[in-house]
Amino acid sequence: MSAYTDRPWLARYRAGTPTDITAENASALQIFMSAAAHAPDAPAIKYFDGVLTYGELDAAADALAGALRADGFTAGDRLAVYVQNNPAFVIGLLAAWKAGGSAVAVNPMNRQRELAYLLEDSGATALLTLNTLYDEVAAEVIAGGTTAVRTVISVSALDGQSRDDDRVLGDQSADVPVGTRALSAIIAEHDGTPVTPTAPSADDLAVLTYTSGTTGKPKGALNTHGNLAFNAQTYRDWIGLTGEDVVLGVAPLFHITGLVGHVMLAPLLRIPLVLTHRFAPAVMVDAVREHRPTFTVGAITAYIALADSGGARPGDFDSLRALYSGGAPIAPAVADRLESVFGAYIHNIYGLTETNSPSHAVPFGVRAPVDGESGALSVGVPVFNTVVRVVDDDGEDLPVGAIGEFATSGPQVVPGYWNRPDATAESIPGGELRTGDVGFMDSDGWFYLVDRKKDMINASGYKVWPREVEDVLYGHPAVAEAAVVGVPDEYRGETVKAFVSLQPGKAATGEEIVEFCKSQMAAYKYPRSVEILDELPKTATGKVLRRTLRDQAAARA
Ligand code: AMP
Repeated sequence: MSAYTDRPWLARYRAGTPTDITAENASALQIFMSAAAHAPDAPAIKYFDGVLTYGELDAAADALAGALRADGFTAGDRLAVYVQNNPAFVIGLLAAWKAGGSAVAVNPMNRQRELAYLLEDSGATALLTLNTLYDEVAAEVIAGGTTAVRTVISVSALDGQSRDDDRVLGDQSADVPVGTRALSAIIAEHDGTPVTPTAPSADDLAVLTYTSGTTGKPKGALNTHGNLAFNAQTYRDWIGLTGEDVVLGVAPLFHITGLVGHVMLAPLLRIPLVLTHRFAPAVMVDAVREHRPTFTVGAITAYIALADSGGARPGDFDSLRALYSGGAPIAPAVADRLESVFGAYIHNIYGLTETNSPSHAVPFGVRAPVDGESGALSVGVPVFNTVVRVVDDDGEDLPVGAIGEFATSGPQVVPGYWNRPDATAESIPGGELRTGDVGFMDSDGWFYLVDRKKDMINASGYKVWPREVEDVLYGHPAVAEAAVVGVPDEYRGETVKAFVSLQPGKAATGEEIVEFCKSQMAAYKYPRSVEILDELPKTATGKVLRRTLRDQAAARA
């Protein structure tokens, strides 16, 4: 059990806050509606040289909600949002909520196979996407006829190579793909009629975010309006952020870190969110110089890329005062080096898609201890109203210092997975999330993560599930058996490696198989190397010994 009652210094960080959960901020939509009502002229999103105010964001969402409704989108329907970081992401979410439905957050790196699966599984009836992603990926999926999508709204692609090409919402008049409508035209034609949303309750579904959970195929985590609202407030009150702060969007918005720590946090405080189209370090440094953000949260590799981009001039990072890094482990030596670059300490924060970003965080202004044995930097202490047990395989409490699985309950834990009662019962029994993360709590109440029960590979915070990559490998005409493991990588933390055996009489090279995978999955997933073995090592019962392969690969790396 977490030991706070007898540790006043930690109890201070947990007691009874977030402090002011009221009708104004109990649901994700209400947080935006309050910002639009009370601060319509305050900047909501700064995107390159353009600014969108809370009032403009609200009007754009009304326009899109009206268009969706006119197209038959009704209560309970889902809009898939498949864009890079772009104001359209936020407009899409708001419009789906205003039209009485919810959103599906889709990774813009996904290729046909992955997009088709998500659209089919979520049953989305509408899709908001970039022109380029439509042409390259979505058009073929929709033409395939396996999805329920009947409305496509397009947003012009912003390649971001030149700042001059980027504008708030871009110029969407050009090249609207056949059968789709441009978001800019919908906004331009809008007569200003506000949509009166049926206010969602805290328990209503806001966004489906896809994760593999502890095992298996990607599942839609049911991130509710209340979950998102609660953890936005966790960020605010844990760190002490105020209306003077400015959020820098370094995390992808489709991922829970960006969704809560960027998209939801900014309207809660009615402050600007600084966005760039994707994580390009030089563009990001320009944005920091120009917009002077004070806070961000993202993967440690984003900080490393910013620090090493070479584009920063002295003083560029001075405005950044509250820095958090989550999603992947931080090596203590890297933390020290980055502190000297940013002039601010980078605090560790830990959570899952299923906990709507943080379940644990390092208190602001406090330095996390390092575990002497594993060398792991503490992921912090449980945040407000959150109880974390360290349990054995039977779910029984383990004593302080003993290593076991983290089991988390609190207002930020999702109620379950979309259409997967079995997975919900297995991973979230009684509302307590079995995280699949393994570690311990020390006698001061700090938590450390030292291992995983799940097969997941963590490449720069992007999660790769061996089974999914193996399924693709089995589609190769020469592959007999395949096993995918994570191997240590200096920059990404881990990277993907595959071991395969070939069918008798068939030939293929490792490079050919890498290319085969590359064409079928998001860039962070495909194996960076494929090693061909005569036979994969197995247990007596024929199960592939993934750990043996992992240890072998790690020893060689
Ligand atoms: P996701 O659902 O993509 O947010 O991934 C959640 C997983 O990321 C967790 O189960 C952890 O394995 C890992 N993770 C998140 N935060 C941290 C952190 N601060 N340090 C190490 N691993 C982390």
